[in-house]
Amino acid sequence: LVRARNVHKSFGSNEVLKGIDLDVMPGEVVVILGPSGSGKSTFLRCINHLEAIDRGSIVVADEQIGYELRNGRLHKLSDRAIAVQRRKIGMVFQQFNLYPHMTALENIIEAPVGVHKQNRREAQAYAMELLSRIGLTEKAHAYPRQLSGGQQQRVAIARALAIKPKLMLFDEPTSALDPELVGEVLATMRDLADQGLTMIVVTHEIGFAREAADRVVFMDGGVVVEQGRPEVVLSNPSHPRTRLFLSRFI
Ligand code: ATP
Ligand code: MG
Repeated sequence: LVRARNVHKSFGSNEVLKGIDLDVMPGEVVVILGPSGSGKSTFLRCINHLEAIDRGSIVVADEQIGYELRNGRLHKLSDRAIAVQRRKIGMVFQQFNLYPHMTALENIIEAPVGVHKQNRREAQAYAMELLSRIGLTEKAHAYPRQLSGGQQQRVAIARALAIKPKLMLFDEPTSALDPELVGEVLATMRDLADQGLTMIVVTHEIGFAREAADRVVFMDGGVVVEQGRPEVVLSNPSHPRTRLFLSRFI
């Protein structure tokens, strides 16, 4: 579903991604680990074309992100065409970023109705289905300030799911939460993984990686240092940098 090849990205003279290769199969859950500043967020943002890459290519569901092939040459897509591509990709950030003046339900239908011009009634019905999947049916008409951090993040996940993405990107979705609220968000993510959603998750939750990931990717210094089954990479890492990183969690 995702094929990233030789992805390079610099900010000025700071080369943050130095040739990332990553394949993600449909239904696969890939957890990306790595130290602060290794380029994890930047890579996720490139997949979603929130950042344009300098070199290489990223293909999601058979479409090259940000470009199209015409007459044998790559052409940059218009903003409108990029917005269409983004519908395939849902993203959840560390900060939940719900609209404070909208209820949970209104937040969830905002993109489908406001941006994608879906029928409001249908969008609402689907939003209620999503709320029931995350166990928040009774909070449909609550405002973000009336929800706990964990509930807000689960609504943010439902909002990302409302556009029926083929791929979900999570960037440290539990890092801003109080410890006692982390579990409910991870449980929601595990449900999605069990339902076969394709997910790329940047997280420091090693337990989640061990239990939910099909594959763990360790990034450092803008490259993929090591990847493999969680039981291999987490228990018996082959690279010294992975070992050093993981030693902090044990
Ligand atoms: P963390 O675990 O702290 O979230 P990360 O692996 O997600 O780290 P990135 O956020 O991708 O790392 O940042 C990698 C590098 O890119 C850092 O040196 C950062 O300062 C730089 N960087 C990221 N975004 C920008 C930007 N918009 N402009 C300039 N530099 C940036
Ligand atoms: Mg980050």
